[in-house]
Formats: sequence, structure tokens, C-alpha cells
Amino acid sequence: MSVGIERYIEKARTGGLTKPNRCAICARAGSLSWHGTYQRSLIALTRKWTIPIKRLYCRLCDHTFALLPPFVVKFHRYAKEVIRTALRWLKSRTREAVAEMIANSFPKPRKPEIATLTLYLWRRKFA
Ligand SMILES: [Zn+2]
Repeated sequence: MSVGIERYIEKARTGGLTKPNRCAICARAGSLSWHGTYQRSLIALTRKWTIPIKRLYCRLCDHTFALLPPFVVKFHRYAKEVIRTALRWLKSRTREAVAEMIANSFPKPRKPEIATLTLYLWRRKFA
């Protein structure tokens, strides 16, 4: 996964990302232009990243939206792989045990604290 994230960062930095065909707001095609970049943090399984997110502007509906890479879940700080792994572990383990396992996947001493409530909410939303 970290290879995928690194490749994405490199592409975003060098203008190598592919512009989507259709607007995410109005769904019409052919009128998008790049509209700046912002940085966001992302917690993956083995480390925390700061990744660039490109924005697009649609001339037809006059809106902008973010082009999220496939490993990011909208409105979530954790990468898709963390959520997916946690949901798998939660099938046979307690939330406390899974929170500990996720923290342990990070190199010491940079352990992120994941709340058991977060795990509860992920299971309600994604499982
Ligand atoms: Zn549009």
C-alpha cells in the first residue's frame, strides 16, 4: 500500500494524475480544469502521511471538488486499508484488541491512538 501512496504523491507532484472525465457534482463531461492543491494527513497501516489532494473546477456548474485517490475514504483520516483490516480483525476480536493491534502496526514510538468508538462507528458504517 505504501508503494501506491508514494506513487500517487509523485504523480500529484509532477502533474501525472489523470483528470476524470465527468464532474463529480453535475456529472457532465468535458468541462473540468485543475483548480489548486491542498495537503491532508492520512493514517495508513504503518505510518502517517501528508498527501496532496488536487481540486477540479467545473465550468458548467461552477463548482469545485476534490479528486480523492482510491486509498482515501471521504471524511476519514484513516486509509481504506486500515478500515478494511480493522473490520476483518473485528470479526474475531474485541475493539480494545483491534485498537492495540493497529497501534502496534506503527513503528515505535509513533503509535497513533485509535478510539474504540471509532472502530464501533466503522463497523456500523462499512461492515
Ligand atoms: Zn459540474
